[in-house]
Amino acid sequence: MIPDDKVQEVRERAAILDVVAEYVNLRKSGANYLGLCPFHGEKTPSFNVNPGRAIFHCFGCGVGGNVFSFIMKMEGLTFPEAVKFLAKRVGVTIEERIPSAAEKQRIDERETLYRITELAMRFYRRILREDPAGETGRRYLDRRGVAETTAEAYQLGFAPDRWDSLTRFLERQRVPLEVAEKLGLVRQRESGGYYDLFRNRLLFTIADPYGKPVGFGGRVLDDTLPKYINSPESPIYHKSDILFGIDLAKQSMREKDAAIIVEGYFDHLALYQAGVRNAVATCGTALTTGHLKLLRRYAGMVYTLFDSDAAGKKATFRAMELFLEGGVPASVVELPAGDDPDSFLGKEGSAAFTERVAIARPIFDYYIRDILASSDTASVGGKVKVIDELVQQLKKIANPVERDLYLREIARLLGESERTLRQVLGGNRAPAAALQPSRGQTQRRTGTEDMLLALMGKYPEVSGKVDEYGVANLFSADLIPVAEAILRQIRIGGDVDWGLILEQVEVPEERNRLAALFVRDEHLEGISPLKMFDDLRRSREKEALRRIKDLKRELASTESGSSRYMEILGEINSLCNKKSQLQ
Ligand SMILES: [Zn+2]
Repeated sequence: MIPDDKVQEVRERAAILDVVAEYVNLRKSGANYLGLCPFHGEKTPSFNVNPGRAIFHCFGCGVGGNVFSFIMKMEGLTFPEAVKFLAKRVGVTIEERIPSAAEKQRIDERETLYRITELAMRFYRRILREDPAGETGRRYLDRRGVAETTAEAYQLGFAPDRWDSLTRFLERQRVPLEVAEKLGLVRQRESGGYYDLFRNRLLFTIADPYGKPVGFGGRVLDDTLPKYINSPESPIYHKSDILFGIDLAKQSMREKDAAIIVEGYFDHLALYQAGVRNAVATCGTALTTGHLKLLRRYAGMVYTLFDSDAAGKKATFRAMELFLEGGVPASVVELPAGDDPDSFLGKEGSAAFTERVAIARPIFDYYIRDILASSDTASVGGKVKVIDELVQQLKKIANPVERDLYLREIARLLGESERTLRQVLGGNRAPAAALQPSRGQTQRRTGTEDMLLALMGKYPEVSGKVDEYGVANLFSADLIPVAEAILRQIRIGGDVDWGLILEQVEVPEERNRLAALFVRDEHLEGISPLKMFDDLRRSREKEALRRIKDLKRELASTESGSSRYMEILGEINSLCNKKSQLQ
C-alpha cells in the first residue's frame, strides 16, 4: 500500500501536461491542449488535456481521467505501478516499507543483472557498429538490406568469433563473472575460468515493454547449427512473459488495437522496416497465457502470421486454443506458400501486406476449413471424428454468440442439422441460453435475440429490417427498450452510443451481459448480415411456435375460465400474432 499523502504528492507534482506531452504532440486550443489520441487511431485531434483541472478526455474513443489513469492505460500498469512510475520521474520517494535484508539483496541483484545486460548490449552494439571484429555482421546486414536506423532501433549487436570477448570486457568493467553467469552470458569452464555464450553471431536485444534489455537472441551468419541461440531464463528474463519487439510495437498496437504475432526476429524486422509496427515475435517459445496477458494490455485483437508449413499450422492451432479460452478475437494472416514476411514484403511491398491483413480469416474459421480439407468427411466414421474434433474446440469459445455462429457454420459445411451439433456440444439447449441469469415466467431469452442486437449495432441495414418486422415481434419485453434505443440512434444518424444504451439497462447482470456482447464484434465481420437476419427471424418464429405448443399443453391441464387460463389464452393470442408478422 502506498500512503495516500504520497499518492497526492505525486499527483500534484506530476503535471498532466508534461506527462502527456511525452507521448502526444499537443497544441494549445483555448483553455485546453489538443492532440491526436494515443489510444485510438485518428487523423483529426480529439484528445483534450485540461491542465487546469488536471484531466484528459478523448472525444473520439471516450477514454478519460487523471494523470494516473493516463499512465495506467499508456504503459499498461496497475494503479500502484502507475503511482510508482510517476513518483520516480518527479522525484518523490515512496518507501512502502523497509525491505528485509533478503529482499534487499534480491532487488540489488536484479538491478545488477539489468546493468550487466545493458553493458553487454552496448559492448556488442559497438562491435557491430565500428569494431573490425564486427565486419562479418555489417556485411550481412548490408546484404539483407537492414538500414542503420533499424539496427539502432533493435540495438543489434555482433558477438565476435572468439571464446572470451565478452568475458574479458566484463572483467575490465569489474563485473563479477559469477553474477554474469546467472544471465547465461558467460559460462564456467570445468577447468576454471569463464567463456562466452555468444560467438560469431548477430545479436538481437530482447527488451521488456519499457525497452529495458533482458536478454539476447543470437543468429549465425553461415550454416552452423543451431541457427539461433537465445539467452536462457534468468531472474530478469522469463520467456513466458516477454515477447520480442513489444517495446517497439506497443504504441502502434494501441493505435491499431491489434497485434501481429510472427515467429522470428527477421520476420519482425522485415515488418518494422516496411512500416508495420504493431508486431511481436515469439522467437522459438510457444505462446503462453502470460504472453496473451501482455498483449491484452495494448491490443484488443491479434493476428497470427506463422509459416504455412505443418509446424506453423501446429503453432497457429495451439495459439488458437489460448485465444478461444481467453476470449481474444484472433485472425490468421496467410501468405503464399513458401513466403515469409521478409520475402513477401521484398517482392510485393507493404501495401500488398496490408491487404493480406485486411482479408485475414478469423482463426476458428481457418481451423474449420483446414480440418475439413484434411479429413475424410465422406464416410460416416470420418464425419463423426471431424465433428467430435470441431466440437471439442467449439466448447472453448468463450463468447456465446460467436460459438453459436460457428456452430451454424459447421452445420452448414457438413450438411448436418444445428440440433445434432448442439446435442454433441452438450444438451439440446441453445448454448447462449445457458448464460441467462434468470428466466421469469414471461421472459424467455435465447441467443437469437442477443445476436440480433449485436447485428443491429454493426449493420444499419439489419436495423432497417428490425424496424420493418417490428421490434415487439422480434424481442422479448425486457429487451424491447434496448432494441428501440439502438433504432432511435441509428435513425438520427451516426454511430450507436453503446455506453448510453447500457446506462438504460437497469439490472446489473443484464447490463454486464450486454456489455460483453457489445464490447467486441469482430466475429460478425465478413458475414452476410441480411441472410443472418433472415435466419434469426426464422429462429424467432420457431421459438414462438415452440412456446405456443408449451402453452397449449399447459392450457389443457388448466381449469377453464380461471385467471391463469385467461392469461395463457392472451399470451397464445399475442404469440400467434407475432409469429404471423414474422413470416
Ligand atoms: Zn481516443
